[in-house]
Amino acid sequence: MARRFDGSRLVVASHNAGKVREIRDLLRAFQVDVVSSADLDLPEPDETASTFSGNAAIKALAAAKASGLPALSDDSGLSVSALGGEPGIYSARWAGPEKDFAGAMRTVHERLGDHPDRSACFVCALCLAWPDGHTETFVGQVDGSICWPPRGDRGFGYDPFFVPDGDNRTFAEFVPEEKHAISHRARAFQQLVKACFD
Ligand code: IMP
Repeated sequence: MARRFDGSRLVVASHNAGKVREIRDLLRAFQVDVVSSADLDLPEPDETASTFSGNAAIKALAAAKASGLPALSDDSGLSVSALGGEPGIYSARWAGPEKDFAGAMRTVHERLGDHPDRSACFVCALCLAWPDGHTETFVGQVDGSICWPPRGDRGFGYDPFFVPDGDNRTFAEFVPEEKHAISHRARAFQQLVKACFD
């Protein structure tokens, strides 16, 4: 039985404005006062785990302990089949300190070369942690493929070259509500809501 969230204030353990915006949108129905770890000036812990779930737990526990409030983290990324799952947990790092996602997408494109398998997925692990060290973790995935050149100006990160299965637009061409209906983050979020909020 998962522990339920029964507070009124939640820290989103992220300094990534795109993720905080999407999580805020997803939490809108629950009348929770959302603050980000950037708002609270909390330090960003080193992501030393080898899985999305492990890194999500590191971030949520660090924020919960530092703030004294329940904290929700998101560790996510793009896994490209023909690259053995890369960039995976290193998705943010491939963009470098300048957060150059146009460059990171180009790196993926160049490494893929003319490989016929363009399949990829976005994965998201959400971890809700409490200051006493308890955690609940949920993982969501959306399958799709890589296109070139990138298209669209919505979304963030690798959205402009990811086409989810069943559509021919990239995530950066979706309006936010459409992305929230099918994304890896939304799928993990649905499980979180069912277990901890409903
Ligand atoms: P981290 O979870 O902070 O290590 O960063 C994950 C990285 O994966 C982000 O900086 C984005 O580049 C990428 N990513 C995660 N979710 C999405 C998404 O919904 N769209 C596009 N890129 C994403």
